[in-house]
Amino acid sequence: MKILYIAGYERCGTTLVHNVVSQMDGFWGGGEINRLWDWGIGKNPRCGCGSSFLECSIWSEVLRRSAPSEKEVALMAGMPAALNNAKLINPFRLGPDMSATFDSYAKILKHTYSAIEAVTGCDVLVDASKYPLYLECLMRLEEWPVYMLHVVRDPRAVEYSKRRRRDFGHPYYKSHHSTMRAALAWTMINQRLAKMGGRHSDKYLRIHYEDFVRFPEKVLDEVGNMMGTGTKPFHFVDGKSVRLDPIHAFAGSPHRASHKGVIELREDRAWVDKLGWWSQYTVLLLTRRSVKALKQD
Ligand SMILES: [Zn+2]
Repeated sequence: MKILYIAGYERCGTTLVHNVVSQMDGFWGGGEINRLWDWGIGKNPRCGCGSSFLECSIWSEVLRRSAPSEKEVALMAGMPAALNNAKLINPFRLGPDMSATFDSYAKILKHTYSAIEAVTGCDVLVDASKYPLYLECLMRLEEWPVYMLHVVRDPRAVEYSKRRRRDFGHPYYKSHHSTMRAALAWTMINQRLAKMGGRHSDKYLRIHYEDFVRFPEKVLDEVGNMMGTGTKPFHFVDGKSVRLDPIHAFAGSPHRASHKGVIELREDRAWVDKLGWWSQYTVLLLTRRSVKALKQD
């Protein structure tokens, strides 16, 4: 098995990219696997297959085989917040304490990913956990080569998407959102992912979300080439619409449920008219260097 890690900043389209890529022959999409413990076990949400997470035929078997103890579940449930705090405290380097914690996570991840491999029998596991620090944990596992698909989206579109969530009353964005902080985080996370990719360039592909929705077949060809799995795409109704079968993903964008059946891939450009000029200017000013650098190969 190979792991294809979909990486990127929040609200940059990783869920849609994950759901489409997961339809490729031999690929199996598990969604944001880093949320398996706090969200999956803790909240028992609905899986993409229609069952509840704990009753899903795949995830229940993965949990039975990996058999995490209560202590391990508690440790892993705290992982997303711990990695988030580590990012804020020390964004570019891990201290020795964090390194030991990473080893503890990696030990449990090894059992979990082994169980996923055994239960699904997939050639490529698609993991949309997004964040760089979780990717660093995964890279400690020597059993599976980890490939990175880094998704970059126009930071003004990301800002508009986050604001829209805030305005709809999303509790996280309501209390946390700030335009400047989001623009800086966009820069920091994308730069870090590009740097990690640069160290493993044969296992790294950077795509722009806007290109993905415009030229999906071309991007999927590139993914197939990188993974060495062949490039024949699937399920295309035409060059712009794709048929998505249900997958066993349980976390991610709230619109994931609508990613079934035939969907049209198109760019949401509402931000051009609806995001005020001052916000667009602020975001551009804070991200312009990274935007330019990320456009270069
Ligand atoms: Zn399921």
